[in-house]
Amino acid sequence: MARIHLSPPDVGDLEREALLRAFDSGWVAPVGPELDGFERDVAALTGWSGAVAMSSGTAALHLALLVSGVRPGDDVFVSSFTFVATANAVVYCGAEPVFIDSETTSWNMDPALLGEALDDAKRRGKLPAAVVVVDLYGQCADYEAIVPMCRELGIPVVEDAAEALGATHYGRPAGTLGDVGLFSFNGNKIITTSGGGMLVTPHDEVAERVRHLATQARMPAPHYEHEEVGYNYRLSNLLAALGRAQLARLPAMIERRIEINDRYRELLAGVDGLEFMPIAPWSGWNGWLTCVTFDTGGRRDRAMAALAAADVESRPAWKPMHLQPVFEHHRMWTGGVGDDVFARTLCLPSSSALPDSDVERVAHALISGVHAPSD
Ligand SMILES: *Cc1c(COP(=O)(O)O)cnc(C)c1O
Repeated sequence: MARIHLSPPDVGDLEREALLRAFDSGWVAPVGPELDGFERDVAALTGWSGAVAMSSGTAALHLALLVSGVRPGDDVFVSSFTFVATANAVVYCGAEPVFIDSETTSWNMDPALLGEALDDAKRRGKLPAAVVVVDLYGQCADYEAIVPMCRELGIPVVEDAAEALGATHYGRPAGTLGDVGLFSFNGNKIITTSGGGMLVTPHDEVAERVRHLATQARMPAPHYEHEEVGYNYRLSNLLAALGRAQLARLPAMIERRIEINDRYRELLAGVDGLEFMPIAPWSGWNGWLTCVTFDTGGRRDRAMAALAAADVESRPAWKPMHLQPVFEHHRMWTGGVGDDVFARTLCLPSSSALPDSDVERVAHALISGVHAPSD
């Protein structure tokens, strides 16, 4: 039996043909009609006119921070429960990440802890230059609480929607809930360009500024004039063609991921002490990863071992940044939620390419693991 992976790409003939068409068109460069088209498609999806395709979600995050005004020496408040890219991009700017722990409703940034951190920043006379809010596992954070707090103090909100393309918050698209947003199209995300990302903004002049910074800050002169340091962060036209083919299938992919989640719920209903990731009342979830929490970390580890023995890839939740050795000396506002979820959670294979028979194989292996006598 073939190994079952966590979230492999769901690509086929449609994507292959799009890629070859772009190749045959001669636009084999980080410029071309597919790139423009991909940006228009994402702009139409989000309703924000500014969309800039980039070589990765991390690159989009880096430029989102720069155009939000983050400078060396600044503080930036960041969701602690995330993939490391979120915090790394802050460090690329020479700024200091300050970590904010999660709430239990969606596992995203806790507005109460953010409030405490902002009060403390006011007292010390140094407000953060930006707040980066992550939409974890394809579910939006509590923007209704978070955004007004930041607006009142004039602090820009960067939405890291790397995992949340197609998700919504009370019907509003993920990516458009703060001041600037970004998506990732890495191989494991809900749609993929193999590697890539997109920054979204409601302001066309911000999009132009990002495009400029992403193309080595090259001025329109025949000899390439440069007035500042830029980056080589644009997406290839070939990969944009792949992205457009994937984006056309996004609604079906979301539907399939949620169907897989429903199937896991049926199959695992009899497992004591197992719960699924909470879905918040504001949330239109995109189904990116099905995550389950066990009553103890020991049972989680036994389930993970049983899955590995059945040649099934599963993973614990992201290790919160405030627990990562690389960030251990950074300031943090924690309430124990991230530590607890990290200790007891397992992410299960969730690709939209997964057939029902694989979902069943995963569930049966998991059940055999948690029901085995413990040693
Ligand atoms: C994947 C991811 C990123 C980074 O995106 P890349 O395209 O891999 O650079 C950033 N933030 C979060 C939350 C992610 O899951």
